[in-house]
Amino acid sequence: METIFSGIQPSGIPTIGNYIGAMKQFIELQNSYNCYFCIVDEHAITVPQDPLKLRQQTRGLAALYLAVGLDPEKATIFIQSEVSAHAEAAWIIQCNTTIGELERMTQFKDKSQKNGRTGVSAGLLTYPPLMVGDIVLYNANLVPVGDDQKQHLELTRDFVERFNKRYGQANQEILVLPEVKIAEQGGRVMSLQDPTSKMSKSDSNAKGFISMLEEPNIIRKKIKSAVTDSTGIIEYDPENKPGISNLLNIFSASTGRPVDELVEAYAGKGYGDFKSDLAEAVVDLLTPIQERYHALLASDELDDILDKGAEQARLVANKTLQRMKNAIGLGRKP
Ligand code: ATP
Ligand code: MG
Repeated sequence: METIFSGIQPSGIPTIGNYIGAMKQFIELQNSYNCYFCIVDEHAITVPQDPLKLRQQTRGLAALYLAVGLDPEKATIFIQSEVSAHAEAAWIIQCNTTIGELERMTQFKDKSQKNGRTGVSAGLLTYPPLMVGDIVLYNANLVPVGDDQKQHLELTRDFVERFNKRYGQANQEILVLPEVKIAEQGGRVMSLQDPTSKMSKSDSNAKGFISMLEEPNIIRKKIKSAVTDSTGIIEYDPENKPGISNLLNIFSASTGRPVDELVEAYAGKGYGDFKSDLAEAVVDLLTPIQERYHALLASDELDDILDKGAEQARLVANKTLQRMKNAIGLGRKP
């Protein structure tokens, strides 16, 4: 059975973008792959976080993983900082990655611009090597992520090929070369306020995203005020009509109805009708998830699952880390 790794940062409350681009894929994939789904809290601290909130969001994200339908019997669910191999592997990977490679990453450029005033941490630059570590430690063949992570996955593949070539023996690869898997539809959900930039849970403008824990009335308000255009015609044209095309994508991903069918169903109708039906579809999608989330958060079950998950993850991760250390000559004996 092939292996999957993926993670989400507890840098805020996950948005419908995280659901459509990442979590929705996880639920489908857990049935046919050996899966590791991580709450990557060490990634979250690459930008400033409030300690108390970070801890709440970390546990909250674990509850959301379960609430959307991840099954701890099928997938290993754990918190990154509870498996120390991640930070150790990241160091080895950083020492085998150039600053030039890291400075080219568009996420670094975007986030360093945004956080410019409070200062940019060195960790924001070295975030991709930590992500490479996450993936290689579990020998992942496949990484389901949103479209924004494509470049980091390319860097991961470059690293693995270089590392194996440099330190591997003939025909014996140290690390598994992973493939990226991006959702066919909804791999890049856009901001409701600026449909040319992606929806992000850490956006300072809360009107740009719908969090998975948002109240129904706020969902309705945010969708009503989503930026569209003045033509009033519902059609799918991401280049010229990014706002309405993004809403069509969200509608389709929330209901399973193909975009073409929606375009046909709303022919001749206005944006107002479309938006209010979309809002109800998103409320219907999120309400049962929110109910399960609140029940899980109050239970002991959640901590038991995370304890067990970390234990299972450590077993695999430590083996790979030892293989990496041996290959490069760290320590006294292989
Ligand atoms: P942050 O703003 O803190 O980076 P984020 O919303 O980008 O938060 P991440 O934790 O960085 O969320 O990403 C988690 C997963 O969700 C990744 O697989 C990422 O590719 C995916 N993802 C993030 N934003 C979107 C989006 N707008 N559309 C589709 N997938 C997304
Ligand atoms: Mg992100």
